[in-house]
Amino acid sequence: MEDLFVIVGGGLAGAMAAQTLREEGFAGRITVLCAEDHRPYERPPLSKAYLSGSADRESVFVHPDGWYAEHDVTLLAGVRATAVDPQAHTVATSDGSLLRYTKLLLATGSTPRPLPAAGADLDGVHYLRTVADADSLAPRLVEGARVVVVGGGWIGLEVAAAARAAKADVTVVETAAMPLQRVLGREVARVFVDLHEANGVRVISGASVRELLGSGRVETVKLTDGTQLAADLVVVGIGAQPNLELAVDAGLDVGDGVLADASLRTSDPDIFAAGDVAAAEHPMLGRRVRVEHWANARHSGVAAAKAMLGQPVRYDRVPYFYTDQYTSHPSIGMEYAGWALPGEYDEVVFRGDPAVRPDASPEFIAFWLKGGCVLAGMNVNVWDVQENIQALVRAGYAGKQVDPKKLSDPDVPLSELVP
Ligand code: ADP
Repeated sequence: MEDLFVIVGGGLAGAMAAQTLREEGFAGRITVLCAEDHRPYERPPLSKAYLSGSADRESVFVHPDGWYAEHDVTLLAGVRATAVDPQAHTVATSDGSLLRYTKLLLATGSTPRPLPAAGADLDGVHYLRTVADADSLAPRLVEGARVVVVGGGWIGLEVAAAARAAKADVTVVETAAMPLQRVLGREVARVFVDLHEANGVRVISGASVRELLGSGRVETVKLTDGTQLAADLVVVGIGAQPNLELAVDAGLDVGDGVLADASLRTSDPDIFAAGDVAAAEHPMLGRRVRVEHWANARHSGVAAAKAMLGQPVRYDRVPYFYTDQYTSHPSIGMEYAGWALPGEYDEVVFRGDPAVRPDASPEFIAFWLKGGCVLAGMNVNVWDVQENIQALVRAGYAGKQVDPKKLSDPDVPLSELVP
């Protein structure tokens, strides 16, 4: 029987899976269902260089235009899967076809969480997930525009930086005690608050949006404490939800994502999951994780493809993400590797000075430790240290301790601390 591999989802994970199948010599049919009208693209530029106009559209695509035809990959752009039948091994699509599959990859991604407030459907309220979202937002980030960003996560803060670069007037509203506190904890979240304040952003923490007011178009953002913010534009970045409907309807095991083992195989042996939607067992972390970052989409797409081919796969990469915020001082370019949620670490060690000054960008590495073991590390405006940071995280998760004094001493090379 001919091998028919179907990839549901034309994001980075799906595109990398298609590429990997061909690189690994798969000669069967590959069909990629891509709900958007575009071929697969990368999302990081949408809140960074593409949003601020310094990268063009062609630069965001994963593959050149002709790649899919050249590699005999059927890309169905503008077509979504509407149902999966695991018994019959079929996928129903929005254009009325029924595709048979021998192996299926779910790489359906995630959707921005809608703002739970009255008036959220007014014109001028934006989300940022797709290239179309970026196209509609970018021209509105202009000098003097009053922009209220709801949610101080990565999307919210990158949009705030792009809006300030365009000389907009920017306020960030965050429900937690600080933007990014939920992921970084207060010690390092503070650095990002300082960065944005130094760049002229007003940060309002511990506040929620009660309602958005305006006649047709948003004009005012009313917070739960009664504060009213005048707004020409509201950008909502309050997290994303995995697109689970197909998996749920197909009867697969789901939780906060499609549950998968370390080879990215779901509860159905012929169905795999990758990217934002997958909640996969992570051998190093010893738990199931769902990761919404670019690096995970890229690498889990590769791993899932190999698993679909029957290769032994253990997807065990150290979780990694990066951000770039602002292009003139003070600015931050950073990389983060590991996993250290607030409440799960007992100490943060800085190597270098995290203070944000008006005319200089901070340069430091932060390490999150528990019982002397490194759980995560973040290099800010310091480069070529990821390999050592990831080795320290791996060692930390294996229970090996480091001396925090040496970790904080820039004169001790990091490589000397890697066991
Ligand atoms: P994203 O990918 O959209 O940046 P994150 O989950 O990284 O998502 O960050 C979302 C941020 O939004 C978190 O800091 C969270 O505390 C904050 N948040 C969630 N709900 C609200 C809300 N209703 N108003 C303001 N901030 C919110």
